Amino acid sequence: MGVSRRRIFAYLKNFIMSDRRVRVRFAPSPTGPLHMGGVRTALYNYLFAKKLGGDFLLRIEDTDQARFVPGAEQYIVDALAWCGISPDEGIGVGGRLADHGPHAPYRQSDRKPIYRQYADQLLAAGHAYFAFDTPEELEAIRERAKSAGNPNWQYNSITRTSMKNGLTLPEDEVSRLLASGHPYVIRVKMPRNEEVKFEDRIRSWVSVNTLNLDDKVLLKGDGMPTYHLANVVDDHLMEISHVIRGEEWLPSAPLHVLLYRFFGWEQPEFAHLPLLLRPDGNGKLSKRDGDRLGFPVFPLNWVNEETHETASGYRERGFYPSGFVNMLAFLGWNPGTNQEIFTLDELVEAFSIDKVHRAGARFDFEKATWFNQQHLRQRSPEVLVEEYRAGVQAEYGIAVSEDFAAKAIALFLDRAEFVSDLVGAAPYLFARPDAYEPQTVAKKWTSESGSHLGQLVALWEATDYREESLEAAFKAFLADSGLGFGAVGPVLRLAIAGTTQGPSIFGVMELIGRLECEARVAQAVAQLSPA
Ligand code: GLU
Repeated sequence: MGVSRRRIFAYLKNFIMSDRRVRVRFAPSPTGPLHMGGVRTALYNYLFAKKLGGDFLLRIEDTDQARFVPGAEQYIVDALAWCGISPDEGIGVGGRLADHGPHAPYRQSDRKPIYRQYADQLLAAGHAYFAFDTPEELEAIRERAKSAGNPNWQYNSITRTSMKNGLTLPEDEVSRLLASGHPYVIRVKMPRNEEVKFEDRIRSWVSVNTLNLDDKVLLKGDGMPTYHLANVVDDHLMEISHVIRGEEWLPSAPLHVLLYRFFGWEQPEFAHLPLLLRPDGNGKLSKRDGDRLGFPVFPLNWVNEETHETASGYRERGFYPSGFVNMLAFLGWNPGTNQEIFTLDELVEAFSIDKVHRAGARFDFEKATWFNQQHLRQRSPEVLVEEYRAGVQAEYGIAVSEDFAAKAIALFLDRAEFVSDLVGAAPYLFARPDAYEPQTVAKKWTSESGSHLGQLVALWEATDYREESLEAAFKAFLADSGLGFGAVGPVLRLAIAGTTQGPSIFGVMELIGRLECEARVAQAVAQLSPA
């Protein structure tokens, strides 16, 4: 199709679609802590909805009770709340695990009675059928197929003709089996050899022949739907206009498209997001990669209530939610400009689903850290002062003044990526050194050092002990004595901080104050130049 025809087509489609309110959902299954890839899916849904003035829903897909993990639902709610991704409807709206909105309940296990009628509708229309094969029988068939060289046996439009189901058994036998309580499932009846086509917003046209699709189970005998049925029914009932989800769901989309057709429902638009890849680009970033590669893959710390397994999170690593969210947004999207630093609101403005990349997004922890650093630098001074004071209180049990905090931040901000760096970089601000870097002592501390420091202390007596005055007096001392910086600078640092690493020592001295600095010089001289 030529470009212009395609444009006209897109325009017409938008025009036709425009009376449909934009409604999207994030629909995680509570099978463990929410992976950062899941948070990105939620984020893109949120950005898409907010940009277009639509609704963002949080639905919990917990039909697979065998995989249910206690605490996971709360984790999902907490993680989204930390990121500032707030749903308009669904779980957690209006309090902890509240279930709120015009389509409540939003937890699929609580919606169980809803699904049966839809399975019945498909049965009546001949798009679904009862299947009575027991798990043992299916297992035996799979085993036989495997030994015959077919490891991927499927229940599909070909094999179903020789299975125990409503298509092969006489009607009265089906009724008898159902009445007798024989275990059964309801399967979709895949059309044979038909092309299923749909347009994905990110991947363009997707086309699959139904010969490659199996007769998936839609509803189990206990009345619990599977993911496919519940997902499509709920997206319809909740009036979802766009399904934005991870690429791993792309293989399920043709079945979903067929289900919409069978039900005679308007199909939502689909957008399948690219995978998050490991830093080396080799494969999907998995839940286990975090431990292996030394960075978090979850938003928050996690403890499994039953197994006590733990996982570490970005929050506890010291990330700002804004830095984390900014970083996530760029894993698979960019605005097409040079701007990289965005708040959540700015992301809403800039976001476009049509700019999401097709190729997998390689994760880079250093880049993630860089995003946080940029957000740290853009923090309002007042907020940062409070964060620093709280950090110092927690770490050292010391209450510092606002003035002290502001000065310390100014000194250490350049080298910091996290507030915790600001706080943790200089324990010597809060405690006298209890050791001195041995290499520096060996290299720099001479029999003259004590005397040099003594002279400096005397010169500083006459100053107001501010950074500039301390530095000016120090320089005058070097000029008068003819000593080089290297002969005195490291020695001074050693005496005050115990280490030669750090920002301006005069700034540090101003913060520490005259009395303490003099005591530190005295301690260093006593220890390093014993009389
Ligand atoms: N419950 C699925 C999940 O855990 C949702 C897939 C979808 O969005 O359709 O990701």
